[in-house]
Amino acid sequence: MADLLEFKNVTKVYSSGLLSRASTTALNNVSFKIEEDDQTIMAVAGESGSGKTTLAMLLLGFIEPTEGQILYKGQDITHLRGPDRMTFRREVQAVFQDPFAVFNPFYTVDHLLTVPIKRFKLARSKAEIRDKMVEALTAVGLHPQDVLGRFPHQLSGGQRQRINVARALVLKPRILVADEPVSMVDASLRANILEILQSLQQDHGVSILYITHDLTTAYHVAKSILVMYRGTVMEAGDVDRIIKDPQHPYTRLLIDSIPWPDLNRRWGETEIKARESDIGVVSSGCKFYGRCPFAMDKCKTLPPLFQINEQQAASCYLFDEHPQIASERLTELLPV
Ligand code: SF4
Repeated sequence: MADLLEFKNVTKVYSSGLLSRASTTALNNVSFKIEEDDQTIMAVAGESGSGKTTLAMLLLGFIEPTEGQILYKGQDITHLRGPDRMTFRREVQAVFQDPFAVFNPFYTVDHLLTVPIKRFKLARSKAEIRDKMVEALTAVGLHPQDVLGRFPHQLSGGQRQRINVARALVLKPRILVADEPVSMVDASLRANILEILQSLQQDHGVSILYITHDLTTAYHVAKSILVMYRGTVMEAGDVDRIIKDPQHPYTRLLIDSIPWPDLNRRWGETEIKARESDIGVVSSGCKFYGRCPFAMDKCKTLPPLFQINEQQAASCYLFDEHPQIASERLTELLPV
């Protein structure tokens, strides 16, 4: 089966200045694939500073990897030129967190949707442009007559975020990078936006990379998940297994932070704080060493990924009786 997108051992290091030697590894040897014919929703989850936004920026081609390659239809995206670059730009779209940021208050919804259609020469007449707008707005659950001709201030936050999705959809993308798309939307509308993402995958053949700090929405929308911490994949696999039976100490901490509706269970019962004396170890060993209650001497060396079962792997020495799995083979464990 052909790969639509492949992250191949991608590392991104930021240097803090020309004269300074200080650098930060925002992403460390991350690999995964999205197949051409198996549309999926993959969540990339973690706290701020986990590297998930860097991953999104790399995938969109906004920044370049320090090491490794990002391949789209087999071609390195940093070398794409001409028509191939235009195709990549059209087929890989993004929806960001802030539904207000992409709106110019002086332009109507029509303008917002028309610009990408014209830029990529996807319609030959005004009637064709309107048809494409109506089709995209309907696909995201909006009545075109309710929003076309309107200015941003005349729309609700939920309508604005759905128009953002429609704006990506008019380009018929193959991949949608949804970076915290519901974090600034009212709780009452979140389920609706998540349902729209699922219908894009199921009915419109779009694969979605769902980037979030919120494991509950990842659980509802995604099939597979990469749990990230300080730029490293801590645990990966089937979302259902990982949320219901997390193995890595960091994933367990994240799950424990979710306020489940259980009166017998106190929210945040398990608080794992950094041991001040051990914080320096994170640069060479396990990134979670400074906060991990199970830390051992061998954790001062970076752990590889261990395959715990057929759909779950964790980067942690607690599982070193299991076989190691190379990061570029991780996709084999991710369901679609
Ligand atoms: Fe904790 Fe060691 Fe596992 Fe890291 S490798 S999560 S420090 S037990």
